[in-house]
Amino acid sequence: MEEASRLREKIIRLEAELEQSKQQLRLIQQDCNHVYIETPLTRTCSKCLQSESLYY
Ligand SMILES: [Zn+2]
Repeated sequence: MEEASRLREKIIRLEAELEQSKQQLRLIQQDCNHVYIETPLTRTCSKCLQSESLYY
């Protein structure tokens, strides 16, 4: 089934890309001087998009 193996290769490629993008985002978030925008439930950094729940 040629289409199946083509799709599987695509998934593997996209998963690798996803991991790489997550890693890059983590590095950006580690180095960021966060500027948080708060909502009642969460706060999100406007620069790196890291978000935290405000529930305790
Ligand atoms: Zn930030």
